[in-house]
Amino acid sequence: MWEKIKKRTGNLVFFRSLRVRIFFLLMIMGLIPGHITRSMLINNYEKRAVSVKMSEVSNQFKMISNHLIAYHYLSDTSSEVINAELNQISNLYDGRVLVINKNFKVVKDTYGISEGKTVISEEVVRCFRGEETTYYDGKDGFIEMTIPIVDNVNQQSEEQGEIQGVLLCGLSTDNISLTISILERKAFVLEVLLAILILLTSLFVSKFLLLPFHKVTKAISEVKEGFTDKALSVPDYEETQHIVDAFNEVLKRMRILDQSRQEFVSNVSHELKTPLTSMKVLADSLIGQKQVPEELYQEFMEDIAAEIERENRIINDLLSLVKADKTSGRLNVEMVDVNKLLESLMKRLSPIAEKDRIELIFESNRPVTAEIDETKITLAGTNLIENAIKYNRPGGWVKVSLDADHQFFTITVEDSGRGIPEEEQEHIFERFYRVDKSHSGEIPGSGLGLAITRNIILMHRGAIQVSSVLEEGTTFLVKIPLTYSK
Ligand code: ADP
Repeated sequence: MWEKIKKRTGNLVFFRSLRVRIFFLLMIMGLIPGHITRSMLINNYEKRAVSVKMSEVSNQFKMISNHLIAYHYLSDTSSEVINAELNQISNLYDGRVLVINKNFKVVKDTYGISEGKTVISEEVVRCFRGEETTYYDGKDGFIEMTIPIVDNVNQQSEEQGEIQGVLLCGLSTDNISLTISILERKAFVLEVLLAILILLTSLFVSKFLLLPFHKVTKAISEVKEGFTDKALSVPDYEETQHIVDAFNEVLKRMRILDQSRQEFVSNVSHELKTPLTSMKVLADSLIGQKQVPEELYQEFMEDIAAEIERENRIINDLLSLVKADKTSGRLNVEMVDVNKLLESLMKRLSPIAEKDRIELIFESNRPVTAEIDETKITLAGTNLIENAIKYNRPGGWVKVSLDADHQFFTITVEDSGRGIPEEEQEHIFERFYRVDKSHSGEIPGSGLGLAITRNIILMHRGAIQVSSVLEEGTTFLVKIPLTYSK
């Protein structure tokens, strides 16, 4: 039903306002009961007035019917006393009285129109059977009643006497209708006054009730315009505080995001500028010297080429990071043989390891297939193993192990390298973070590799941990679910 109302009112923009709805609700709640009470009271009055009139008239006519018998009026209508009595009562009740005898003949009509005519209506017939009938027509404003004329006078016993005739009376209820219309007019005036009162109250109440929501809007607009930095609070209602709390949470996240965006941009520009500055220094010193010896020229050009290579690596890493960010949630997941993936990855890296005489060991405890994005996991694995080779000592070793249980598979990358100081371990996954920056020139890198790796693992709903002992080695542990869940 609510959906239907929504559909109907959807186009009426003003009805979507909470204030208008509260206003209408209060109006309906105030007016409908008022209107129902009014109708019930008037209806009750009408019923009561009609029944009082009927019983009054019925008593009067019962008395008259006794007189009719006593004066043998049904056979002889000349009695002045009875005629006067009948006229008087029909005047009193603003009605018409017909006296009908046993043969359904009208012996007396106070209007003098139907005398001598035969009346065989359902009510008259029922009345001859001893049933008093009453009928009220509120629309035309009259009551019709039949009262039996019973011969109790000539009756010896206590029993009900024989029905000799019927009194048929039609009475106007104009005075009841008049009272009702007066009552209705008064009730209408009252209702209009009530409506005005409710209208003003609902306008006021609906405005008053919605004030805290306006406060929320105002507070949020102020934040939008940059007026305030502090957390919002509108504790007037529990609901407004919920809205404001949720907004504060979003605001906090936005501030953190903005800060990290700023840091990222400044880091990127700094990292991109460093190789350029070196290249400029190298190029300037070549330009500044006349007749540069060929060996120096050669050496400087090699340095410039190395800087270009560094710049290239940073840009490539940045691109993969941005790509991983952009496509987060859009993994190209398929069933992949993880053993095979690691084997081919290590084969590709073995020339670099051989260069530093580093032994590459692969240990697989069981065959593992998992739902993963092959390209991305290859990139993450490459970063970890490449680091284990890069930050190792000549003649060292790197051990990669693969294992799985019924839910996860784990890749461990262990090395015999320089290790990472404990206080630095929590930072190594940050973008551009490099341990011991003063030595970073020795080993090429952008500081983005582990940030990319962590991103990829999180996208797979996995986790990465590091443990390291200085001068002994480092172990990275990666844990990823075997089946991918969105
Ligand atoms: P980079 O391009 O500098 O290698 P990473 O994000 O891959 O960037 O790594 C961040 C830093 O963490 C590295 O600069 C290095 O100091 C440290 N690190 C990463 N892996 C290892 C490791 N296996 N052994 C020692 N230090 C490591």
